[in-house]
Amino acid sequence: MAFLDRRNRGNIPLCLHCREPAVQTTPDRHEFFMRRALAEARAAAEEGEVPVGAVIIHEGRIIAAAHNMVERLKDPTAHAEILAITQAAAALRDWRLEGTVLYVTKEPCPMCAGAVVLARIPLVVWGADDPLRGGALSRFAILQSETLNHRCRIVRGILKDESLALLQGFFRRLRRGTAIPEEPRNPPD
Ligand SMILES: [Zn+2]
Repeated sequence: MAFLDRRNRGNIPLCLHCREPAVQTTPDRHEFFMRRALAEARAAAEEGEVPVGAVIIHEGRIIAAAHNMVERLKDPTAHAEILAITQAAAALRDWRLEGTVLYVTKEPCPMCAGAVVLARIPLVVWGADDPLRGGALSRFAILQSETLNHRCRIVRGILKDESLALLQGFFRRLRRGTAIPEEPRNPPD
């Protein structure tokens, strides 16, 4: 039981799946961190990237924040979640992101959901579902697969309208031929 004792200083309830201390969260807290993820998504939109943003918190503090950079890096794996996981692993000096929460504006794709499982992230919070290609729950339930060695707790729908508006605006501009926002972020007075 040393394994449990080491992680249970302070008698925090343990997650049934990963034996991690259950992260204490509230809806207000989810919104607070999701707003940071949305700010990352807006930065992506301004750079002509699909607007998805992610942050990872550990012990109540942000240790990673990233947005989609596929076009800039010319890297199909440069999704917000992957970049944030890499940052978080560097910050914790551990590939196991125990005790963390990932906030992401849209349901992770199959690649990112796979990375979340490998990183052992105990709780994932997202905004908009992706019914077409969602890899976490909607199309492929990778975060809760019984055949994988880690399952995540999930909270969905936090600030989903803001996330959807960003995505829909981006693809509308893309259809018109410009993926760059038509109005400056901070218009002059
Ligand atoms: Zn992804």
